[in-house]
Amino acid sequence: MTLLTQSDIPSQAVPQSSEPDSSADRSSLDSHDLQAMAERPRRIVIVSTILLHVAPLLALYPPFFNWQAIGVAVVLYAMTIGLGISLGFHRMAAHRSFVVPKPLEYFFVMCGTLAGQGSVLGWVGYHRMHHLYTDQSKDPHDSHRGFWWSHLSWFMHEVPNEPERLRLTKDIASDRFYVFCHKYHTLLQVALGVLLYAWGGMPFVVWGVFVRLIVGFHSTFFVNSVCHMFGYRSHDTADTSTNNWWVALLTFGEGWHNNHHAVQSSARFGWNWWEIDMVWMVIRSLEKLGLATKVKTKRV
Ligand SMILES: [Zn+2]
Ligand SMILES: [Zn+2]
Repeated sequence: MTLLTQSDIPSQAVPQSSEPDSSADRSSLDSHDLQAMAERPRRIVIVSTILLHVAPLLALYPPFFNWQAIGVAVVLYAMTIGLGISLGFHRMAAHRSFVVPKPLEYFFVMCGTLAGQGSVLGWVGYHRMHHLYTDQSKDPHDSHRGFWWSHLSWFMHEVPNEPERLRLTKDIASDRFYVFCHKYHTLLQVALGVLLYAWGGMPFVVWGVFVRLIVGFHSTFFVNSVCHMFGYRSHDTADTSTNNWWVALLTFGEGWHNNHHAVQSSARFGWNWWEIDMVWMVIRSLEKLGLATKVKTKRV
């Protein structure tokens, strides 16, 4: 059971004639096949994730510390997680909850690409699958499989619904800038690292890339794990989503996840006075400046 409707996913992404469970793509993969494929480990992803956790330890080496490097990391964290993932990949690209001019849209997509959470086409596709099949076996990070599965184990295994992901990202898969970011997301991260090295040496690389990536990595994935297990529920949605204040602080508003599951197309996630939603503040400011239009909000 899910609350996602055709209107919550851009119409170009989902052919009107095709319901998720009845498509020809899915007929070739029954639930047994999907389960078997989901058990296959993705070795490159596992090795990359281990390196992602080991590299930040360089920050413990005193010569790699300086306050300027911390400042660079904080600014890049806000840009890649706040503007990139929360505002760009999630509320703009995945849910189309507002529209901005193309140059600004591409800036947000680039910011999200530099968050190091895979390509924009993968991120958006898997997220749309999460909403379509929340807490079911076809949900890529089905929370019923446990905390660690929903937090990080899921993407260390084959995500079997590749035909479904492709089908759900048709609206952005033909955009050349999205495809560019999809193809070269790793190279772009390396390029950022080279620039930081030229600017401030190893301290900038260690803090601005390694530490920043690992904090952003777990902060974002807490939404998939913590926000389907711990926190309060304002809405009786047909899933396990929760609102969690500290995840919201780490992710600039994404932690109000039960509110989001209740009205997925809304650009605003925080509704009560204590539900601070910094990404919504940015979107509201863009709207006042005339840069964001068709902003979807719905009081819940
Ligand atoms: Zn969720
Ligand atoms: Zn969402």
